[in-house]
Amino acid sequence: MREIVYIQAGQCGNQIGAKFWEVISEEHGINCTGDYVGDSDLQLDKISVYFNESSFSKYVPRAILVDLEPGTMDSVRCGHIGHLFKPDNFIFGQSGAGNNWAKGHYTEGAELVEAVMDVVRKEADNCDCLQGFQLTHSLGGGTGSGMGTLLINKIQEEYPDRMMATFSVVPSPKVSDTVVEPYNATLSVHQLLENTDETFCIDNEAIYDICFRKLKLPTPTYGDLNHLVSVTMSGVTTCLRFPGQLNADLRKLAVNMVPFPRLHFFILGFAPLTNRGGLQYRALTVPELTQQAFDAKNMMAACDPRNGRYLTAAMVFRGHMSMREVDEQMLAIQNKNSSYFVDWIPNNIKTAVCNIPPPGLKLSATFIGNNTAIQELFKRLSEQFTAMFRRKAFLHWYTGEGMDEMEFTEAESNMNDLVSEYQQYQDATTEEEVFEDEEEEKGIA
Ligand code: GDP
Repeated sequence: MREIVYIQAGQCGNQIGAKFWEVISEEHGINCTGDYVGDSDLQLDKISVYFNESSFSKYVPRAILVDLEPGTMDSVRCGHIGHLFKPDNFIFGQSGAGNNWAKGHYTEGAELVEAVMDVVRKEADNCDCLQGFQLTHSLGGGTGSGMGTLLINKIQEEYPDRMMATFSVVPSPKVSDTVVEPYNATLSVHQLLENTDETFCIDNEAIYDICFRKLKLPTPTYGDLNHLVSVTMSGVTTCLRFPGQLNADLRKLAVNMVPFPRLHFFILGFAPLTNRGGLQYRALTVPELTQQAFDAKNMMAACDPRNGRYLTAAMVFRGHMSMREVDEQMLAIQNKNSSYFVDWIPNNIKTAVCNIPPPGLKLSATFIGNNTAIQELFKRLSEQFTAMFRRKAFLHWYTGEGMDEMEFTEAESNMNDLVSEYQQYQDATTEEEVFEDEEEEKGIA
């Protein structure tokens, strides 16, 4: 079986991570003491992707929990599924990162990173055939972003041929009031660009808007945001966790979704959207699900896919439904929106159906898109970054930890290059033109 070693780092990483494990444990019939109490063989078929089976027939998440301060992890330990996690896999410091990427990446984080790598190695050694790693973290803070990207680098060094996937929470001033978040996020994107194979972007700006506008929550809390995040993460990982052909492991997903190595930042959509504990009065039909999961207003990244073009996309349906109807609806969506899909990658939208619906729903759909409009998100960060960096505001917090200003300049230009690359492929219309662009880049033309 192809196992994933999963890591959650920092406050956000641990909070959304704990929700993710709560959801997938329930889906696989694992109760809060690690016993299997489910009712379908399908729940156990690929259980070892995310869970270890202990000698007492208990299922234990292959999860490593990391933070530079004990608070959040204490809450996870005391929470609903706290006893599910292996006690040795909680690794934490006492100092905190103070929302400073440099502390997470270079000073405090660097001191703790070897302790984490020891556990990573132990988990990886116990795997039959490790497929790769999954990290859940935020980009705006200090630990998940700074130490999270340090961990990615260390893991890549030791396991260069394994996959690296991240669920990365992008900061928004609507949700957080820490001014240096654009610095932390830009420094992180600089790392993610080179060192991950796939990054699922969870944009707090978009999730906040969904809670506020669509779910009519006047003051959304992290609990509300994380509910949406966890159902989406469950949707995205469905094909990894249940039997099926399409995108059945991290590598197959990357092969389908990533046409150029740097362009591996995905936007996500989910339907039906409900608030926490919100009941669904009527199950949506397949056409409604398809339309909603594909709808710009349901996207968990603050960018409008209609301003860009899809390089690739995947839709994951869950529940009992007619395959013919699914195929028809997906064809209809593509025909209706054909100008939003690049024409130089034929068949660039894939569909999977898993018969097991998520808890509490009859049917659901999750959408994964690699759309050039994600440049809007990076542009937003870049503008916020540049406004401060131009005046070198707050830089002393970073140089005080030994960082060089050069790293800021490099991170800024690397992210701006990414924006241009998305634009270049957005403009490209035929195979010949892409070829010409590449030739020009190499100075051949
Ligand atoms: P760290 O502990 O140093 O990694 O810092 P945080 O994870 O607290 O990073 C701060 C960023 O994460 C800000 O952009 C917050 O808005 C965001 N954040 C913190 N906790 C959560 C959470 O539970 N859910 C979501 N969606 N975002 C969070």
